Amino acid sequence: MSRVLVVEDEVAIAELIALNLRHSGFEVVVANSADQAQSEIDRVLPDLVLLDWMLPGQSGLALAKRWRSTPRSRDLPIIMLTARAEEVDKVAGLDAGADDYLTKPFSTHELMARVRAVLRRKAPQALDSAVEIAGLRLDPSTRRVCREDQEVKIGPTEFKLLHFFMTHPERVHSRAQLLDRVWGDHVFIEERTVDVHVKRLREALAPVQRSQLIETVRGAGYRLTQQVANAA
Ligand code: CA
Repeated sequence: MSRVLVVEDEVAIAELIALNLRHSGFEVVVANSADQAQSEIDRVLPDLVLLDWMLPGQSGLALAKRWRSTPRSRDLPIIMLTARAEEVDKVAGLDAGADDYLTKPFSTHELMARVRAVLRRKAPQALDSAVEIAGLRLDPSTRRVCREDQEVKIGPTEFKLLHFFMTHPERVHSRAQLLDRVWGDHVFIEERTVDVHVKRLREALAPVQRSQLIETVRGAGYRLTQQVANAA
């Protein structure tokens, strides 16, 4: 389930946003202050953040800048929420690294459309769309993986891992990044856990001749590469 962090000090607005996101199948965490938002980010990296501009203490803008300058949260999808509609603020927000903007008051329809658009662009694994690579098809809505008519027997963690690889192909992911993005909680799990699940994933893909899709990059991590599968 995709996780959205809502950072908003006005409780009524935060609740309304949370309600709508939950209705659409998202897991929602609400933070009412900048400090709370930061400790949430430190704990579990969400799939997307809805970030209010005007917060008591540190501003949303300052938080966005800080997250963008930290390697772990650099690619975090961020939508800024603001009551101001002036052009100069939009520019400042986008400069700070926001992916999109919502001006209050906004409709539920607009909120959901923006959330989906940003996820599609920056975190497609957080959406339910089916993915296909090298003849391998993964469908999050049915939780099925198959190649042509042959279904792949796969465990829940390997499924999530494969989903992440397939939505971020040809890029090297370190073990720490995979723990953050696939397990969602990097603090309590050892990095070698990733190796165990990658091994299981390859074993699961072997009956459909697709275990070569997952490549080990020495000293760096793992990558899903289509080239290797095509050559094999
Ligand atoms: Ca506010």
